[in-house]
Amino acid sequence: MKDYPQILFKNRRPGETLFLDGYRAAGGYGALKKALTQMTPQEVIDEVKNAGLRGRGGSGFPTGQKWAFFPAQKAGVKYLVCNGDEMEPGTYKDRQLLLADPHQLIEGMIIAAYALQIDIGYIFLRYAYEDCARRVERAIAEARQAGYLGNDILGSGFFCDLRLHRSAGRYILGEETALLNGLEGRRPNPRAKPPFPVNQGLFDRPTVINNVETLANVPHIINGGADWYRGVALTAEGAGSKIFGLSGHLEATPCVELPLGVPLGEIIEHYGGGVWRGRRFKACLPGGASTPYLTRAHLDLPMDFDAVQGARSRLGTACITVFDDRTCMLAATLNLIRFFARESCGWCTPCRDGLVMVTWLLEKIEGGTASMDDVYMLQDQMRNISGQAMTGAMWGPMRGEYVFKVGSRAFCPLADGAMAPVEALLRLFRDE
Ligand code: NAD
Repeated sequence: MKDYPQILFKNRRPGETLFLDGYRAAGGYGALKKALTQMTPQEVIDEVKNAGLRGRGGSGFPTGQKWAFFPAQKAGVKYLVCNGDEMEPGTYKDRQLLLADPHQLIEGMIIAAYALQIDIGYIFLRYAYEDCARRVERAIAEARQAGYLGNDILGSGFFCDLRLHRSAGRYILGEETALLNGLEGRRPNPRAKPPFPVNQGLFDRPTVINNVETLANVPHIINGGADWYRGVALTAEGAGSKIFGLSGHLEATPCVELPLGVPLGEIIEHYGGGVWRGRRFKACLPGGASTPYLTRAHLDLPMDFDAVQGARSRLGTACITVFDDRTCMLAATLNLIRFFARESCGWCTPCRDGLVMVTWLLEKIEGGTASMDDVYMLQDQMRNISGQAMTGAMWGPMRGEYVFKVGSRAFCPLADGAMAPVEALLRLFRDE
């Protein structure tokens, strides 16, 4: 097993949480001091932009670009929100970060707030993560006590405070605009985008929303610099390290920090101990239930955002769920779609009704009572929900309507994400 540098997990010890004294002894809050005393807010934004940091919540959106969109100089209240809702099936990386090292996130948030000239930040945490919530609350209190939060932080004149908010516990709350409605105490339906939250977010004020892992990277970028950070990844396109959380049919299911660009097969063999019970690898979800399957053909694929996208999938959360060669991919997909159908907020018709229809069609195929018309109807539902085009056998007289992608018809990415494994099922496992 190669010894890759540990950056985000450098303070991680089994069963332990590092609080303020240990964090400071390990160099913690040094990046905050550097940012506040040696860098302008714009220089912090530029460093993050040049580092090539991409959003670790699943979308891979360039963080520096998001920050550059933010009207930092605009007068009035602005917000920073850390999205720690982490309810994507198979995904548990943010939890590991918070259990091990909560101050790392807090330092990243204060630096982000300084860069964007924000004075209030919220940590929006998954309902089931009460163990993390207690650690984050203690860390916030410690940071306040030590003068890293509140007035005149480290004598810089900068004010910032952070608050923890526990999610109400539904998957849709992780969608960033539903999350904002939840924070405001409203029913968490997603909002239309644009306007994007950077312009009109929490209480209609400019709001930057970043994932836990994304913000945890910020102190390291400030300490090490953009060139160092880019060099951590194994591929030229990648930047930095990534937390990979393994699950499924493997001998071992650890959560590991690796450079972006480590091949899929190496992760499965070296860190997952190989497919369990001596069986063969059949497929995996590369980054949560809303990412299309990868197969044996992809074992050499470097796990970075661009390479996985090039294989018609997405890196997503990089929490990899592995399926062995005895798995029925239809049954696995049906299990996922039942989850998504249950978690639909019901706000828009393609998602609310479409996912129920897709569940029914997959159940029919799984039960052996379907005809090819049901497969065509499944494709039609895909087009109707996410606008995804299928090449190959199209529905008779309407052939041709389906050969281009028309874009999502649902209000938010939930339904699109739900259809990702269904699309891959039809493309890669059609014979099943
Ligand atoms: P997105 O690509 O639509 O947006 C990414 C981010 O960039 C958002 O913050 C958005 O506001 C911002 N953005 C995009 N275009 C912008 C613009 N022109 N101006 C300003 N800001 C802009 O993706 P998303 O809807 O945020 O997230 C979808 C992803 O979430 C999926 O890829 C999925 O993998 C992931 N996901 C993660 C979890 C989890 O538990 N971590 C759960 C469900 C889904």
